Amino acid sequence: MRDLENWLEEKRLQRVEKFLKERGFNVFLVSDKDSAKNKILEIIPKEATIGIGGSVTIRQIGIIEELEKRGYIIYHHWKEGLSFEQDLEIRKKELLSDVFLSSVNAITLSGELVNIDGIGNRVSAQIFGPGQVIVVVGRNKIVVNLETALWRIKNITAPLNAKRLNLNVPCAELGYCEEECNSPNKMCRIITILTAPPSRTPFTVILVNENLGF
Ligand code: SF4
Repeated sequence: MRDLENWLEEKRLQRVEKFLKERGFNVFLVSDKDSAKNKILEIIPKEATIGIGGSVTIRQIGIIEELEKRGYIIYHHWKEGLSFEQDLEIRKKELLSDVFLSSVNAITLSGELVNIDGIGNRVSAQIFGPGQVIVVVGRNKIVVNLETALWRIKNITAPLNAKRLNLNVPCAELGYCEEECNSPNKMCRIITILTAPPSRTPFTVILVNENLGF
């Protein structure tokens, strides 16, 4: 049974890989999170500065610890005890890093990358600013089309993130999106869809045949 499921996942990943390549993204399909980490280490130039977007996936693959060991300068704002000003300063440095590492919230079977953001630093860094962008995407983020991408983000990604962060928003209570949400803490303020890599930003997608992130 498990073999059959893996076969299906592999086929879906191969389809996404094909369409991403046709759209002009650099793409690698790897089997697990360790291979994703090693691929990043292979790609990033020595002495590059690294910005890390708000991403559970990036933290799950253990790349931050590995980069720290190797002496890279890393900007990431998920640190305990930062003041508002320090947090903002780090987010700005992430935007101008040589390499920006992140994930996406959903990826369609035809290779569109979909994100929803609240502050906007994660999505803007995927469009312009860093020297290059690398996103790591687990197989659980694959959806049929743009409509299901938005449904997934609002009814799976956002509630899980809201619960994790203990945010006072409707989906943290309900487990699904309250469409009339106008909470001051609302996370869903900006939607981006990348249909091709931004024209001045080299963009790599590492697809992983494992579930990663939300
Ligand atoms: S719009 Fe509000 S309730 Fe809906 S997913 Fe976003 S934060 Fe949650």
